[in-house]
Amino acid sequence: MTLFCLGSNLVIWWKGKDLNSSSILHRLYRLILLLPKTKEKLPTHTQFLLYLTRMNRDSILTFLKQWGFTLLIFLLLIGASVYGYVRITSLNQNIALLSNRVNSLETTLDTTAKTLEGSIKETHTSLSKELSQEKQKSSAIEEKLGGVEQEVGSISGTVGTLEKLSKTDPELLQKYSKVFFLNEHYAPERLVEIPVDYTYSNTRAEKIHASISPRLLGVMNAAKAQNITLYIKSAYRSFEEQKSLKSVYSVTYGSGTANQFSADQGYSEHQLGTTVDFITTGLGGELAGFETTGAYQWLLNNAYKYGFVLSYPQNNSYYVFEPWHWRYVGVELAAYLKNQNKNFYGLDQRDIDAYLVKIFD
Ligand SMILES: [Zn+2]
Repeated sequence: MTLFCLGSNLVIWWKGKDLNSSSILHRLYRLILLLPKTKEKLPTHTQFLLYLTRMNRDSILTFLKQWGFTLLIFLLLIGASVYGYVRITSLNQNIALLSNRVNSLETTLDTTAKTLEGSIKETHTSLSKELSQEKQKSSAIEEKLGGVEQEVGSISGTVGTLEKLSKTDPELLQKYSKVFFLNEHYAPERLVEIPVDYTYSNTRAEKIHASISPRLLGVMNAAKAQNITLYIKSAYRSFEEQKSLKSVYSVTYGSGTANQFSADQGYSEHQLGTTVDFITTGLGGELAGFETTGAYQWLLNNAYKYGFVLSYPQNNSYYVFEPWHWRYVGVELAAYLKNQNKNFYGLDQRDIDAYLVKIFD
């Protein structure tokens, strides 16, 4: 209020004239000083100031009673307006700041997203390349492994073959070769006696390679079942036995003739223990003429099933025809020779070798 009065006095002083009854300032004076609406001369500003200084306690109380509430509302409104204005200004400032901040963040986010996208693309490309390389490596390794497996398989096969061979009588296998010589000390590892029912002689025991014995009895039992009579005339013969037999033949028939049907010692298949001479009834105990018998025909048709072949068949270019002389070569080779209409000594050595390990299968 004091400031208001001072201000208005300053205005009046500056304008150099006194208040008049129609001026706004005059009206305000009157309102504040609670002056009745009269036409009397209003107080000058000097008088107004004096009036204010003379206000006593009662006049102030009267003023407050009449205008206090309105004044309070007025002040509150002013205060609220000022506060509102300040608050709104402050909020606007905050909003502007936040808006800037949001813009800045958006820009940063956009940049980061682009960077990440680029980075992800690069990583993806790089990973794809690496994956492709790894795949190539993997397939290369697989190929190598395949090769190794084959090699291992091949080696296993070879080892199996060698193991099998090592368990088979080495000299017996060696004698599979077309050109052989058995020394005087060679005898099959295990020889067993052929039961006397199967041998022609009741007094002289015949022996055979132990592994071949069951096959020999098998073929003879099969023949017997079909009413074919077969006997073993001769089976294993030692180096010395062959030697003396050849001497006897040479003396009897002359060495030239003897050579045609009896091998020298060391060259006879009988020393292997895998070969037998069969005879049958009706020949007076002789080998000669065996080719005319039903037993011979039966052997030609069936012996291969048991692994036996004719060593020196008719018209062979290797040795004189011996229809009674049968040799065990294994079921597989015997079947092959039968099917191919070949004879053992007509085979290449390589073909013979392929059957070596299967001889006792
Ligand atoms: Zn013989």
